[in-house]
Amino acid sequence: MRRSPYQPATRVAHVGRSPQRWLGAVNTPVFRASTIQFATTHDVELAENGQYPGLAYGLHGVPTVTDFQAAMAELEGGHAALAVPSGLAATTVPLLALLDPGDHVLVTDAVYGPTRRFCNLHLARLGVEVTYYDPLVGAGIGALFRPNTKLVFCESPGSLTFEVQDIPAIARVAHERGALVVADNSWATALYFRAFEHGIDVSVHAATKYIGGHSDVLLGVIVANATAYPRLFRLWTDLGVTAAADDCFLGLRGLRTLAVRLERQQASAMTVATWLRARPEVAEVLYPALPGARGHELWKRDFTGASSLFGVILHPTSASGLAAMLDGLDLFSMGFSWGGYESLVIPVQPARVRSATTWDAPGPCLRIAIGLEDPADLIADLERGLARLGT
Ligand SMILES: *Cc1c(COP(=O)(O)O)cnc(C)c1O
Repeated sequence: MRRSPYQPATRVAHVGRSPQRWLGAVNTPVFRASTIQFATTHDVELAENGQYPGLAYGLHGVPTVTDFQAAMAELEGGHAALAVPSGLAATTVPLLALLDPGDHVLVTDAVYGPTRRFCNLHLARLGVEVTYYDPLVGAGIGALFRPNTKLVFCESPGSLTFEVQDIPAIARVAHERGALVVADNSWATALYFRAFEHGIDVSVHAATKYIGGHSDVLLGVIVANATAYPRLFRLWTDLGVTAAADDCFLGLRGLRTLAVRLERQQASAMTVATWLRARPEVAEVLYPALPGARGHELWKRDFTGASSLFGVILHPTSASGLAAMLDGLDLFSMGFSWGGYESLVIPVQPARVRSATTWDAPGPCLRIAIGLEDPADLIADLERGLARLGT
């Protein structure tokens, strides 16, 4: 796909919309449709043969959906995109579409937990062998290939532990062996990691997170190159997992402000992470954008920015102290998901879900998502929280 001459902040304002189609209205409206009426029996016949030139049925993507898809494909530089009802569907549909019984898949050990569960329960049931690999394996992944290895699944930085993967090295090996590379790019978004330029074949996103940006929509998007797209499109159509028009409207709406939100959230996250790292209660901050942090050099080489989700490892503390810290926070709330305008914190236990690697941390781990609040207020909230640790 042709590279846009415009900067990301400009592109998010203009991708995936064509006001002249909607009486000049700036945004593609929410287009609710199941039945599409045909004018003639000839049209019905064309539709039945899959040759109708227009939209034949709502499930195949009304304009709000196809505009969101076009926006995401253009933004990321993929061939085409498919919108699905959740980020989890965005990670699982490619696994289901691109793997056959008897195939082998390599999955990063720091993969999003529910994606891992899908692999363990459902890929295994369908006769696909799953091997988890050290997220930091790099070109060493070659040693894990088998003759039937068809796909490598990456997620960088990793869920909960934020390892930065050497994606170009992994992709080079995978392509030499004839395997495809799928990456969960939810953390960086299309703005901060140029997946296709680094050798990814399919980039998937929980648009629920930064793209939606307001904690009010569940949405996923699968962006693919021309090699992988036809199989993805076939399964997406046959499973009937089109995202809803209302949700794609929110996805498009979120996209318009993605660049400014990320810029602000990145700056605030850096401020808070830097402050946290200097605190005596903190053993380590897992934020690849932070100079000296694990993965910083690879992040600097491959990413053009950082979002605002990071990890914190505390020094050993009592469970009651940790509860006092977290339960008493005023601005940070505890909840799953991230990428919204509001800051979140949640205790996490990465060691529980590992199989290829072990995760040792001296004390409790937290995952922090920095929102759009003033970072000074956030720091003050955390400072009062850390003071409660010893209670
Ligand atoms: C949240 C998340 C998903 C799933 O998104 P949902 O919309 O909640 O299903 C996928 N991948 C990663 C890395 C996530 O954090």
